[in-house]
Amino acid sequence: MFGGTRTSSSGAGYRYLTRSVRDSIDRVGADRRNPRWQLIVVHNSGTRQGNARVFDYYHRHVRHMQNGLAYHFVIGNGTSTGNGQIEVGDRWRRQINGGHVHSDYLNNIAIGICLVGDFNREQPTRAQLDCCEELVRYLRQRCGKFDNSHFPFVRPHREVNPPRWGTDCPGDVFPYSWFRRFRD
Ligand SMILES: [Zn+2]
Repeated sequence: MFGGTRTSSSGAGYRYLTRSVRDSIDRVGADRRNPRWQLIVVHNSGTRQGNARVFDYYHRHVRHMQNGLAYHFVIGNGTSTGNGQIEVGDRWRRQINGGHVHSDYLNNIAIGICLVGDFNREQPTRAQLDCCEELVRYLRQRCGKFDNSHFPFVRPHREVNPPRWGTDCPGDVFPYSWFRRFRD
């Protein structure tokens, strides 16, 4: 439908995935028949504020990661970017490995989403959680099933890092029951 109501032009009932975000996600050539992405890993930034540009600088110049921003997506909390605002990272645009898990194997098959905030101290905002859910559902449809059987699994960082590299990410007060809404 074209030229209808304002909601129809802004897109199919999406609240957080703006047209430009959906275009950025869709523009890349993910191959549905041989999907690479098997896992979606949720992180917190461990900082009260920040955005893709700030984390990119940190990962590039302090952590010396040559591809910069380690995540594929960043979701703001209303400080440095809007509350529930999605920033699409360069690693998604280029469809390259993340740098967000302590495992080269996992970084090669796992999409990284970072929610801005320190969730050892405070919970993510409702908008961040709702936004992340919308993004995850969209990405799963976009990526399709791997091995012809599973949409990418959705996991908190702490559940996938190798044991010798234990992490509390995405934080002790993250509402982990949120993950139950995504069936494997
Ligand atoms: Zn993490």
